[in-house]
Amino acid sequence: MRLSKSLNRSLWVFHFNSGSCNGCDIEIVATLMPRHDPERFGIKLVGSPRHADVLLVTGPVVHAMKERLIRVYEQMADPKVVICVGTCGQSGGVFYDSYNLDGPVGEVIPVDVFVPGCAPRPEAIINGVVKAIAKLERLQEGKND
Ligand code: SF4
Repeated sequence: MRLSKSLNRSLWVFHFNSGSCNGCDIEIVATLMPRHDPERFGIKLVGSPRHADVLLVTGPVVHAMKERLIRVYEQMADPKVVICVGTCGQSGGVFYDSYNLDGPVGEVIPVDVFVPGCAPRPEAIINGVVKAIAKLERLQEGKND
């Protein structure tokens, strides 16, 4: 896999836990380990949303994290892509009727790619990142579909 010419540098990813049980986060860590090693394709985690092209969100959105999630999203420069990892972020999952939720991620910020599963395997997460790269390329070419 190679990043296309429209992405003229590595793809930088910021990970945000909006209330996950940590299962999805552990799979993200497993994805980054040497077995899959996405950094060899130029995909790496960064410590600031201001540097990121991709926002990787895990978990449903709990009250305490809603404003933070919106702030992180707004700090990212355009074009940007959001990947929601795990069933909880997609629908609320096992926490769907919890008193503490503000809803699935898609009800708080726009989501471009969903990676379903509880928790999704590293292969599924990498597949989601590949879809995000395709979306980012379309955005950089001025196509918003
Ligand atoms: S999808 Fe599963 S592993 Fe991920 S946050 Fe929800 S309960 Fe945890």
